[in-house]
Amino acid sequence: MRFALIAAWLACATLSVGATSGFAQERIQVVTTTTDLRSITEAVGGERVAVVSLVPPNMDAEDYQPKPQDVLRLKNASMLVRVGLDYDLWADRLLIQAAKPEISRGGAGYVDASFGIAVLELRGMSVGSGDGHAHGSGNPHYWLDPKNAEIITGTILEVLARIDPAGAASYEANRTAFLARLQAKLTEWEAKLAPLKGMPIVAYHNNWPYFARRFRLDFVDFIETKPGVPPSPAHLAAIVRTMQARNVRIVVREPHEPERDIQFVAGKAAAQVVVLAASVGALPRAADYISLFDVNVEALTVAASQ
Ligand SMILES: [Zn+2]
Repeated sequence: MRFALIAAWLACATLSVGATSGFAQERIQVVTTTTDLRSITEAVGGERVAVVSLVPPNMDAEDYQPKPQDVLRLKNASMLVRVGLDYDLWADRLLIQAAKPEISRGGAGYVDASFGIAVLELRGMSVGSGDGHAHGSGNPHYWLDPKNAEIITGTILEVLARIDPAGAASYEANRTAFLARLQAKLTEWEAKLAPLKGMPIVAYHNNWPYFARRFRLDFVDFIETKPGVPPSPAHLAAIVRTMQARNVRIVVREPHEPERDIQFVAGKAAAQVVVLAASVGALPRAADYISLFDVNVEALTVAASQ
């Protein structure tokens, strides 16, 4: 009798442990190429998903060198979310190595987050060898317009609901709540950036057309000769002339970008360098998609008021 009770208790204990670990295992394993897409996917997926980004925070995703563990991550995933538009072409090699049809192009768990986005700076496919490695299919930095999160979350919702129908209602509620929060923040950001309307700005890399269009900023030139191509001395001299002629007071730099050329043009033109995050995690306080904009809006308003 005593033995039977213990056996029953043990069975119960085993059952509850099994249920707990079972819950952990049942989370949808999602791999994103970038930290921005990780944050956005977490906002929709909530507690039903476990999301990992292949590119770590504060690294240039356009120049990422995949690691062996990235293939393993893809093998364990049932969903992949990528930026597309040639931004993360390196993911294609990883997908071939992972050999997992459900997260490869055309698979049920494959998400190209650029689907449905109105792409800026489309230049056709006539990119020559001197044009750098980036931006061959239009400007890929579309997540920097918070309004585009409506489209991105819509695409992610559709795929999550397809591969995990039991969570569909929860995903939809998460997305609605996230977009409501984002819309309220957008009103706040637009108000804060209003004084910067039309203010000429120079940046190192052309990350900013979507951000600039949403907030009516004017990025007049870029220190890179072309996206992905470091500047020549002649180009640096031309940038300084542009900055003097247009009275550019702000030069934007991302933390991973080379400081020397940026300091050089800022010094010559008596402008200040403003460090912005073009991706989640590039600055410590830009910890998720919404705080990414909080941090950038604050840095720009502080700089403009000086
Ligand atoms: Zn770029």
